[in-house]
Amino acid sequence: MAVTEKYSILMVDDSSSNLESLSGILKNDYLIFKAKSGALALEIAAKELPDMILLDLIMPGIDGFEVLNKLKEDPYTRKIPVIFITGSENETDEERCFDLGAVDYIKKPFRAELIKARVRAHIGILGQLRASEQLGLTDPMTGLANRRSFDDRIKMEWYRAIRDKNTISFLMMDIDKFKSYNDTYGHPQGDELLKAAAKVFAEKARRPADLSIRLGGEEFGILLPNTSSEAAMVIAEEVRKGVKALRIPTADNKVITTATISIGVISMVPANEDRMEDFIAQSDKNLYEAKEGGRNRICQSTYVH
Ligand SMILES: [Mg+2]
Repeated sequence: MAVTEKYSILMVDDSSSNLESLSGILKNDYLIFKAKSGALALEIAAKELPDMILLDLIMPGIDGFEVLNKLKEDPYTRKIPVIFITGSENETDEERCFDLGAVDYIKKPFRAELIKARVRAHIGILGQLRASEQLGLTDPMTGLANRRSFDDRIKMEWYRAIRDKNTISFLMMDIDKFKSYNDTYGHPQGDELLKAAAKVFAEKARRPADLSIRLGGEEFGILLPNTSSEAAMVIAEEVRKGVKALRIPTADNKVITTATISIGVISMVPANEDRMEDFIAQSDKNLYEAKEGGRNRICQSTYVH
């Protein structure tokens, strides 16, 4: 979720007056969804994927325990933190809530300040978790996916392509003469070039499943699931032109620098016996050929069975 957006909270209680008082406490700080039954709660949770759920324990029909169990079974709702709010006097209920994976337990009658504080604390933890997840998957300088994130995604897309008999394409890219650019203008300027090139990749490969990756140094990739060799070639050409069109001024504004990129493109409809490693290795060979051929060019091959 974007930083400017409010976190959303789903409140579940069979009593309307409880729902009203809870939402009165939190509605200024969060986007609120309300559900008067366990069944409705599950429906809204699956559809809206709220950031947090405040869950009444005792409800007719599907009770809080069952709602939590169901949430944990669904990979999409599994990670939503749940805080139980209950009037139950049964002491083992509290333990059971934590055993089932709730993050907190608040007893009725509740004080507004306590609800606010507990929710704020858990939302804070959530924000930290998300930030660290994000940090682990992106290259901090360019904001593109990092190699780890690429390794996860390509496995998923590779097997999906085998299953659906779709073409998967990959662009292996390397900025030409980056070392000499760095030597001439210095490393901070080199970083500016990498950032500017990364922006080009993200702009040219913008469908939801496309993934632009910084593989390391001046080496980048673009994973194009469900993309024909022709379509991959069009994107590669746009990327090549986009990088060539860059005009990056030095910090003192005295020189306008330019750069080019070489690209190796591979496309294939993978079968079970194919190896993902060979697919990537072929894109690397194509990149090498593009470099050997004089740089600022694309070398493509299509693997046909
Ligand atoms: Mg109740």
